[in-house]
Amino acid sequence: MTQFRLCARGVAAVTLPLLAACSSGPDATPTADLVLHHGRVYTLAWPDPSTDGRPSAQAPYDSAGGWRHDATAIAVREGRIVYVGTDSGALALSGPGTRVVDLADGVVLPGLVDAHTHVAELGESLERVNLTGVATEAEAVNIIAERAAKTPKGEWILGYGWDEGAWANRYPDKRLLSERVPDHPVVLRSLHGFASWANTRALALAGITRDTPVPNGGEIRKDASGEPTGLVLNRAVPLLDNAVPRPTPAQRDSQVLRALRVMNESGYTGMHEAGVPPDVMDSFERLAERDALPLRVYAMLSARDSALVRRWIARGPFTSANGMLSVRAVKAYYDGALGSRGAQLLDDYADRPGHRGVSGGSYGFDQRLVADAMRAGFQAGIHAIGDAGNRATLDFIDSVTRAAPSARELRHRVEHAQVVSPADMARFAALGVIASVQPPHAVEDKGWAETRVGSERIAGAYAWRTLRQAGAPLVFSSDLPGSDWSPFYGLYSAITRQDTSGAPPGGWYPAQRMTPEEAVRGYTVWSAWAGFDEQEAGVIAVGKRADITVLDVDPFRAEPRALLRGGVALTVSRGRVVFEREGSR
Ligand SMILES: [Zn+2]
Repeated sequence: MTQFRLCARGVAAVTLPLLAACSSGPDATPTADLVLHHGRVYTLAWPDPSTDGRPSAQAPYDSAGGWRHDATAIAVREGRIVYVGTDSGALALSGPGTRVVDLADGVVLPGLVDAHTHVAELGESLERVNLTGVATEAEAVNIIAERAAKTPKGEWILGYGWDEGAWANRYPDKRLLSERVPDHPVVLRSLHGFASWANTRALALAGITRDTPVPNGGEIRKDASGEPTGLVLNRAVPLLDNAVPRPTPAQRDSQVLRALRVMNESGYTGMHEAGVPPDVMDSFERLAERDALPLRVYAMLSARDSALVRRWIARGPFTSANGMLSVRAVKAYYDGALGSRGAQLLDDYADRPGHRGVSGGSYGFDQRLVADAMRAGFQAGIHAIGDAGNRATLDFIDSVTRAAPSARELRHRVEHAQVVSPADMARFAALGVIASVQPPHAVEDKGWAETRVGSERIAGAYAWRTLRQAGAPLVFSSDLPGSDWSPFYGLYSAITRQDTSGAPPGGWYPAQRMTPEEAVRGYTVWSAWAGFDEQEAGVIAVGKRADITVLDVDPFRAEPRALLRGGVALTVSRGRVVFEREGSR
């Protein structure tokens, strides 16, 4: 990691010879700490495009030549942007103590913000067996057996990433897994966390038997004789999770930091953690206090932990002195997921007559707790996937904000907003509710989503353009670690609605595609706004916090497939270089 000297404004040069280099005289402008030049800077400091994607008249765009960058250089001092403009203008602010970086035509964007993450899980998963992309149960069991061979007997083996959506028609069970791995407790979380798969040893340690009461909104799968099969769904997942030993505070801090650094490597300078449990909240607070957060953390408290939320309601919304930790949101779940048929639909699932999913109180949604948090000044981010789940969530926000007008301006959000009834599209704008959507989900779900909802309802599914045209504020995110968090993949998915192989030609329901500008805004300007950070970040402008991402491909001008070969060259968080690609200069 690069260290550079901070040049304090007005510090007497006599005390520290090093600082003398920072100031060229009593009346001169103090020099910059960091100068980035020879770049293609898109400041995003122009107005939003129209809801059909047309760039604003002030945008650096014309229909003949397309997009062009609107600056080439930036100067940073004490964590803030002090200059945006030409190379010569920025270089004029450099002195002997300035780090000067030649960007070699790199593309500079406002720091990327992932508006829906599970960084704590990413940190855990970096230590776990990765089953992402594994096609069959047998293959997954082979991988676990290999890990078991290298792991002392009795130690837990944790894995993640098998796809509960793709495997929903033939869930795995404990038989083969227990046969091949009898001596280690094994718990394998699904890709999106809505299912968990265990062997006999883990079921025993978790105390899951034929007599275990099934939590509301959950399912313990059982065989014909009533024995648990080793697979639990939705709200029964914690039965297994809670049996796994918790990391110590030091382990938690190192997991979280490791995950945040992975995000820096992917160009992120901010993220919204969607559902923070108490031990992760403690970790964020410890790291913020040590000034060790390498990106801005917007923590959305887990409404599944009422004691935690009650404590914060008493304490009130909070932002750390350095601005790097903000706690002013709660994350709740209204329904399940579409793949595992937990999302609540207004009508039957097209591929399971008589079934409409599960939601509300029966899914563990604590209406009073979330309403109390909203009245106390917290933003509510409510997971809703099905059209019934979305409608009920909008109804809930409507009723709370009607009774408590002060809660109206809190930019409440529907997390996923995946299947929305045409009748509800305009309600997002009317209520000022953000649709927090994940471009990767559309391309990953396209193989089975229409089977679940049928040909009519699919028109309101993953319907970003329709939402925008209805006036809904949008933000984009990865929902990591469930999806690949590469910003290039996210931008590509938003722009093309094609998978990485380019299918389907033209994109899946291509009318819902975003323009490159909208895609970039969804990960910068709009996500900063959703995290109440628009005064500080989201655009590149003098006075803003120096959160900057440098890429080697231009999302405004490149042919979209070229994005998939893109790389991050440099990530700057609050003026600090937190990631720098080796050999990039
Ligand atoms: Zn999530």
